Amino acid sequence: MEKKGIVTIPAGELEGFVAKIFVAAGCDAEEANRIGHYLVSANLAGHDSHGVIRVGRYVEWLRLGYVRKGQQLSIVHETPTHALVDGNFGFGQTIGPQAVDLGIAKAKQHGLSAIALRNSGHLGRIGDWGERAAAQGCISLHFVNVFGGELVAPFGGVDRRFSTNPVCIAVPMAGKRPIVLDFATSLVAEGKVLVAADGGKPVPEGALIGPDGKLSSDPSLLYGPIAGTRARDASKGVGALRTFGEHKGSGIALMCEILAGCLTGGGTSGPLPGPRGRIANGMFSIYLDPGSFGTRDFAQSVQEYVNYVKASRPAVPGGEVLVPGEPEERTRTERLKNGIPLPEETWLAIVETAKGLGLAPPAQA
Ligand code: NAD
Repeated sequence: MEKKGIVTIPAGELEGFVAKIFVAAGCDAEEANRIGHYLVSANLAGHDSHGVIRVGRYVEWLRLGYVRKGQQLSIVHETPTHALVDGNFGFGQTIGPQAVDLGIAKAKQHGLSAIALRNSGHLGRIGDWGERAAAQGCISLHFVNVFGGELVAPFGGVDRRFSTNPVCIAVPMAGKRPIVLDFATSLVAEGKVLVAADGGKPVPEGALIGPDGKLSSDPSLLYGPIAGTRARDASKGVGALRTFGEHKGSGIALMCEILAGCLTGGGTSGPLPGPRGRIANGMFSIYLDPGSFGTRDFAQSVQEYVNYVKASRPAVPGGEVLVPGEPEERTRTERLKNGIPLPEETWLAIVETAKGLGLAPPAQA
């Protein structure tokens, strides 16, 4: 694929431009700002797959009624420690914080809580929700699926059966950024194939599998021919993503479907009822208030252990052991300073979406 140029935009400017797009698309300013904030937050963390590359798709989903503006979380069933909640297909950037805040409030009161969220619009980078809980001193675990979004073959198969089903575990650290383990159970997140299809970083060999069982890195197995530059449609490809860790990742992906799809009642990623249409995230989350366990010196013990882990001798000269969350923290620091680099195709697609809504692009673009 031809190597395209890079456009670098200051984070604040990008966030403001994305918010304007969603106001033009019909959202109120608060919701539009939240969408801008969380999409840019994913880019700042280095997860471009879940950042502003999603703008065109979100606008299209809003137009088609797949996602709804201005929604509130509905409580379907509630006890002091747990709740089944429905996102009513509202934007994940609106529903996500509401669901997380409910879990935090219950955990603060009772020591732990479980929140089963169904029918949420795309929840984006799940690490944002782990970080939100950690900022309030809670440990959290999140298991996510995508109703209607099957893309990933199970271990031993070639047909799509799972979505990319991310898992996140976040642990607060006294006076520091939390430890945030946050990854898709597919070998790469779908958005990373999207980035590769746009001329960005290629996905590793074996991230995809063809109908003949051959391993590949070719985005067209997911989206069909990569001619032109714009909307990618995952129903057009004849292949599938693969899970990470062979049978182990495949097993975790299955558990995400069971917890976030079956237990929430939101539904599993497949079988698709008809042509590919609306997708929605389900998220099963557990929140723990570490103080409620009565363990002495939890924070100190975590810090000491992290120090010990990081002191492992590097595997390669000049290398370093990082803990989950550190790469994101470093990228955030660098991108806040120097701006967010976007493949030109991604930027042009955003500008095109803005123009379609009657907006002019920012002056320097
Ligand atoms: P990834 O493969 O980049 O892994 C990220 C995780 O690994 C982070 O916890 C990071 O801190 C850690 N990590 C990375 N390099 C490390 C190193 N050198 N040492 C130690 N730890 C390291 O992530 P991914 O699988 O591509 O997922 C990207 C994003 O996509 C995630 O934020 C995920 O939540 C999101 N996602 C969302 C959905 C959805 O439906 N909403 C679906 C799939 C993925």
